Amino acid sequence: MGVLTVGRTQLDLPLDAGAALIRYALSRGINFLDTAEYYETYPYIQAALKGGGYAPVIASKSLAHSYEKMGKAIEDCRAAFGRDAIDIFLLHEVRQAPDLENRAGAWQALIDAKAKGRVKAIGLSTHHADVAALCAGLPGLDVLFPLINFKSLGIREGENAGTKEAMAGAIRAAAAAGKGVFAMKVFGGGNLSGDYVEALDYVTGLPGIDSVMIGMGSEKDVDDAVDYFEGRLPEGYRPDVSQKTLRVDRGDCEGCGKCARHCPSRSITLDAENIAVIDPANCLTCGYCAYACPVRAIILI
Ligand code: SF4
Ligand code: SF4
Repeated sequence: MGVLTVGRTQLDLPLDAGAALIRYALSRGINFLDTAEYYETYPYIQAALKGGGYAPVIASKSLAHSYEKMGKAIEDCRAAFGRDAIDIFLLHEVRQAPDLENRAGAWQALIDAKAKGRVKAIGLSTHHADVAALCAGLPGLDVLFPLINFKSLGIREGENAGTKEAMAGAIRAAAAAGKGVFAMKVFGGGNLSGDYVEALDYVTGLPGIDSVMIGMGSEKDVDDAVDYFEGRLPEGYRPDVSQKTLRVDRGDCEGCGKCARHCPSRSITLDAENIAVIDPANCLTCGYCAYACPVRAIILI
C-alpha cells in the first residue's frame, strides 16, 4: 500500500480516517507500506500500528542531498516507528544520472546506516529509465523502486520522455543482478485505473518485479487490490472512477505549462509558485493534461 494517497498532497484524510484505512489494509493481508519523509504520512502509520497485531515491512525515503540530512531522515524514521532498523530506506526521486552524483553524500549515509544495522536494505526511487539502468551495477544498492506502467506515463529518459520498454529492460537487468524491485505508478497516478486489470497484468507480468505499490484512498481500493492479487477479480473489471477528480501533485509539478497548453477548456493556470492549478468548474475530465505532463504530476484521485 502506497500511503502517499492519504496524506496532505493528495486526499489529506483526518488522522483517524487515514490510520483506519491503513489498518483495514493490514487486516486484509497487505504487509508492505511505502511512505516518505516528504509525504508527512508517518503519523498515519504510527496510529495504524498503535493497536498492535501487525508488523508490516516499511519502506521510506528522503529527498536529502547531504550526508547529514539523510542521516537525520533515517534517525527520524527509526524514532517515528520505534524500530531499531527500518526495512527499506531509499534516495527519493533520483532525477537523471548527475543527480545521483550530486547526492553522493546522502548515498554514503545510507551505506553507513546499513553497515550499522539501522536500515536493512537501501536503494533509490526514480521515474528515469536512465537512472534505473544504472542500478544493476551500483555497489551497495539492494532495492530499486521505479515508475512503470503500460502507457509509459511519466517515464523519463534524461531530459526526454522515456519508454516502458527502456524501464522494463532496466528492471530486468537490476533483478538479474540480485536487486529487489517494487514498482510504482502502475496506474499512472490514477489516470489508468479505468484499465485496472490490464494495468496490473502488465506490471506484474514483467520479469524482475517482486512487488507493486498501489496508492489506496478507500476500502474499495484495498478490496480491489486484494481481489486482484488473490485471483478473484474478473478479467474485464473496470472500477467506477466517475467520482474521482483530477489534481496536481505539487511535489512533482515542475511548472512547464504543457498541461495548460493542451487543455481544451483553458482550465489550468500556473499559480504564484509556478505550480499548475486545475479549475474543477471548467474541467471536462478529458485527461489530455495528464498525458501531456512529462512528470506525471496530474493525478486522478
Ligand atoms: S482533464 Fe481536460 S479539461 Fe480538465 S484540466 Fe485536464 S485537459 Fe483541461
Ligand atoms: S505539465 Fe505537469 S509539470 Fe508541467 S505544469 Fe503541468 S502539471 Fe506541472
